[in-house]
Amino acid sequence: MKTIYLDNNATTRTAPEVVEAMLPFFSDLYGNASSMHSFGGQVGKHIATAREQVAALIGAHPSEIVFTSCGTESNNAAIMGTLYSYPEKKHVIICRVEHPAVLNVGHHLQARGYRVTELGVDGSGNLNLDELRAAIGDETALVSIMTANNETGVLFPVDEIAAICRERGTPFHTDAVQAIGKIPMDMRKSPIDLLSLSGHKLHAPKGIGALYIRKGTKFSPFLIGGHQEAGRRGGTENVPYIIGLGRAAEFVTAHMEEENTRVKALRDRLEKELLQRIPNTLVNGNRDCRLPNTTNLSFEYIEGESILMLLNEEGICASSGSACTSGSLQPSHVLRAMGVPFTAAHGSVRFSLSIYNTDEDVDHVIEVMPPIIERIRDMSPFWKDYQAGKPPSSFLTGGDVEHHVHG
Ligand code: PLP
Repeated sequence: MKTIYLDNNATTRTAPEVVEAMLPFFSDLYGNASSMHSFGGQVGKHIATAREQVAALIGAHPSEIVFTSCGTESNNAAIMGTLYSYPEKKHVIICRVEHPAVLNVGHHLQARGYRVTELGVDGSGNLNLDELRAAIGDETALVSIMTANNETGVLFPVDEIAAICRERGTPFHTDAVQAIGKIPMDMRKSPIDLLSLSGHKLHAPKGIGALYIRKGTKFSPFLIGGHQEAGRRGGTENVPYIIGLGRAAEFVTAHMEEENTRVKALRDRLEKELLQRIPNTLVNGNRDCRLPNTTNLSFEYIEGESILMLLNEEGICASSGSACTSGSLQPSHVLRAMGVPFTAAHGSVRFSLSIYNTDEDVDHVIEVMPPIIERIRDMSPFWKDYQAGKPPSSFLTGGDVEHHVHG
């Protein structure tokens, strides 16, 4: 059975061009870039090229790029590295729909005496910028707001947020892990101070990321060790992966137009057809201001996980925003923050496309989805209650478990 991969916000296929670029650095070119000899030194030159490629992707200067092990490390380094630089400031502002790689750093800081403001979002997943303005104070060390939400694809106005922060003299970091490679971002035109990106979301392998640190931004290393990355991140460079990230940066730049035309059109067709063919289907998040590849749909009165299981039987890979453990159900923190009713939030499915998807992929999903939903609804007491005009069962608003959307 053919795999139809529609889970690109969880991870992407490593582009064959990227794999090819990496291969020599697993064999012949194994030197250490820090060595005095030219055998190692030649590797340093390749790292410098990769740094230029990543910088070019976001309109940065190569010296502003620090290679890390992943998006999670970039986020941790951005937040902790800023806090180390402002030890007297004990307040951080984040958003309630951040990825756990920011949200849980917030919880970690809170447990250590920091005041952490989690800004809420409205029903479309948008921030209220007046709330942000009101939250920034003299003691605020950092504002960190994601560029694109991983579950809904909703975009935040990060340039505007960065401008507000700059006016107040507060550093601004954005977790742009889901945005980079899908939409253009240009640090020459934006006042963003720090930005995280991750290789495996943009057709490089898992286990490589980068942190952009604008020249002049105060930053203390998070990973303390050797002099690598101009003293900003210790650890011998992961050369093959750095080369892969550089090549992937070129790859996504070359495909950016396609992502925002053909891939977006595929996403839009998938969404439109499913909305038309399946009753009680809703789109979660601001449809006008979203990543081009993502749709998060709720099929009311059923469980997202059952949908995923039946999609899996068809070879279709997607993600869900809810989990069912020992009879207690809890939808994703993102949908909860948006106030999506439980009857809809439980039945959410995220489809996230890439340039490797075809018309046939989307045709297949459009064909199999209506009978899958019908089959599950036929077995769902909640759907039956709904059809009989009864109020939703309290089971639908059950206990507290972690949700399962990856990426
Ligand atoms: N931030 C966002 C928005 C993400 O979607 C992810 C993906 O999992 C991460 C951070 C973490 O990136 P990584 O898997 O490279 O640690």
